[in-house]
Amino acid sequence: MLKLYNTLSRRIEKFALLEPEVCRMYTCGPTVYRHAHLGNLRSYLMADWLRRAMEHQGVRVVHVKNITDVGHMRQEMLERGEDKVVATALAEGKTPQEIARHYAEVFFNDEAKVNILPAHHFPKASEHVEDMVRMVELLIELGYAYEVGGNVYFAVSKFPEYGKLSGNIEGSELLEALRMESDPLKKDPRDFTLWKGAEPARVLKWPSPWGDGFPGWHIECSAMAAGYLGEQLDIHTGGVDNIFPHHEGEIAQSEGAFGKRFVNVWLHGEHLLADGVKMAKSAGNSYTIADIQSQGIDPLAFRYLCLTVRYRTRLNFTFSSLKAAQKALLRLKNRVWEWMSLPPLKDEHEEAEEIWRSRFLQLVSDDLNMPGALALVWEMSRSTLPGYSKLRLLLDFDHILGLDLQNVPQEYQVPQDIVSLTEERALLRERRMYEEADNLRIRLDREGYIVEDTPSGSRIRPKVAWEKHEGDFKTISSSKEVSSRIDESDKGDFTLGIVACNYIQDVQRCVESALNWSHGYSVELLVVDNGSTDGTRRWLKEKASQDTRLRVIYADHILGEGAAKNIILKQSTGRIVVLLDTSVETLGDIMGPLKVMFSESIVGVAGPFGLRTEDLRHFHEPIQETAEVDAIQAYCFAFRRELIKSVGFFRESFRFYRNLDLDYSFQFKEKGYRIVSNPGLPVVRHEHRLWDTLSQEEQQRLSTKNYRRFLDKWRNRSDLLIANQLKSETSR
Ligand code: AMP
Ligand code: ZN
Repeated sequence: MLKLYNTLSRRIEKFALLEPEVCRMYTCGPTVYRHAHLGNLRSYLMADWLRRAMEHQGVRVVHVKNITDVGHMRQEMLERGEDKVVATALAEGKTPQEIARHYAEVFFNDEAKVNILPAHHFPKASEHVEDMVRMVELLIELGYAYEVGGNVYFAVSKFPEYGKLSGNIEGSELLEALRMESDPLKKDPRDFTLWKGAEPARVLKWPSPWGDGFPGWHIECSAMAAGYLGEQLDIHTGGVDNIFPHHEGEIAQSEGAFGKRFVNVWLHGEHLLADGVKMAKSAGNSYTIADIQSQGIDPLAFRYLCLTVRYRTRLNFTFSSLKAAQKALLRLKNRVWEWMSLPPLKDEHEEAEEIWRSRFLQLVSDDLNMPGALALVWEMSRSTLPGYSKLRLLLDFDHILGLDLQNVPQEYQVPQDIVSLTEERALLRERRMYEEADNLRIRLDREGYIVEDTPSGSRIRPKVAWEKHEGDFKTISSSKEVSSRIDESDKGDFTLGIVACNYIQDVQRCVESALNWSHGYSVELLVVDNGSTDGTRRWLKEKASQDTRLRVIYADHILGEGAAKNIILKQSTGRIVVLLDTSVETLGDIMGPLKVMFSESIVGVAGPFGLRTEDLRHFHEPIQETAEVDAIQAYCFAFRRELIKSVGFFRESFRFYRNLDLDYSFQFKEKGYRIVSNPGLPVVRHEHRLWDTLSQEEQQRLSTKNYRRFLDKWRNRSDLLIANQLKSETSR
């Protein structure tokens, strides 16, 4: 007996079908102008487990997932006339149709990679505009909607039950939504757009009784749900952010038009977070399936990770938890591998198996308690059941879990010549020629195979992508994983530190020029590869194998700038630390002059590009040769390592690089150290690619955020400024 939490009734209900044996299920699908991120996929996984659970119990599910390709992302954008598909098409020099087709294709592939069963129908909004127009006409006829100047609005006051799903009647969210959507044509600010007249230059538009235009976002789902599933649905799913206004709008439209209850059970999945906030493209904390694959991680490890937390609980995504999930998935596969090599048994354990089966189904049916079900899997695998029974049970459970475990035999298949080598090795072991046997094992390992010796013989399988990747790059997920060496004594003159993140040519130029001009000094070059995906990693690894001065620490995703730089600080051992930006090229000896500058112990920070300010607002580069300044810019930022202990580390709340250099400079000033700039240091700045790839809006937003952080801490410390110190000196 399936029980589900219904958002509409706000309680767990026994689930009953509207009609025997068929379940009509609708899932709000992706907007196809960008890649779906892992958060989106978490919502679709929830729907997938629900569908699999029902199918496993003999229910026929008809599943519809729409593809939003008309472009209205959110109602408020629609009302401002913005269209993400069109904007992306323009930016990428493609037609909106090409953009939509491309991202829909990627979406289908991504879903397949996490083993989400394809919906039976993927209706595209652009192909159902006529249905939407008809539904809007019906709503006008029935008095639920009105037209003003080519736009049609839903009159919320005509549908007294508006708000029943979200509880948003006069809540702050509603008010917020109203504030964003202020449209003078609406009779009531709560009304929402069903149809919007096209502005003259618009590309994507359709004819309607109210002139050319395009449909609202909510009407898309109401019309397509009715078209494919009828006027009443058993289940409608989405993420919790869909509850208002989207699903509230769908209810008003569908119940207004058809006069009956639209959806029996509303199921909403909680968010996937990253860094503690909702994963979203706009928040800059979103990751895709491609991102995790570039780390050698199996997309199904993400599926496993989502199994570990109930769908109504938020899940904070981290690469370390994903890696843990990858390892657990691998362990599970290895159990399957092990059990598969056992001979089949007679069916004398059916009763015991049945008990496990019913416990498993009970957990799944309890409002999709997938973590409970997963824990049961592990309990079963450790039980005293014979391996063959365990295998049978696990493959059965996997119809619901969807971890693709029946594929293990194909995945673990080994070519004949490798099998022969394994047999050869077994013979060597029989003859107690352990050294020779071990050499063979090492050779197999190098060729990408893992040999496992068990009491019942040796088994061999290919390494999975993850194992190969781990062998190549040991990665870290946070600066906390890196130990600190600041208490150790100096091991040399200089530590050069670079944070690299893609733009391989810049990284090469920066690293090679720095190494070229390091001869004659004792130098270590420490690079933190900050989640590069473009081949930078391979190059760094190769380079480090040739040049012992270079050491690379690989982060498995993009750490914040403060965190990445702190890894360098923690791991540095040179007396002087020089942080270099990858946009910088060294053209001569910087170390000699830096040594001279730091011979005065009052000097805390030095570099070629200094800044001064009179008011903490405007910063400018001084013209003089060598001068005392208020800050050194991050392009080339040098300081004495022993000072880290008193000055402290970078503030890791700075995820973006801008203004972090000001902040850190001020930490030195606060401790009484001087900051000296010397424009004669032989380095040049090239294009700063990260900055240049950001839109102006992004540049502004990120800079402002960091500037606030800086100002919040230092606004009352104008006493630290050179300008004020000079003043007080002259007035004395
Ligand atoms: P969108 O493409 O933004 O309309 O989102 C598609 C689906 O993903 C919707 O059901 C959203 O509710 C859901 N969704 C968006 N962001 C997240 C997130 N961070 N975690 C879980 N689900 C999400
Ligand atoms: Zn929808």
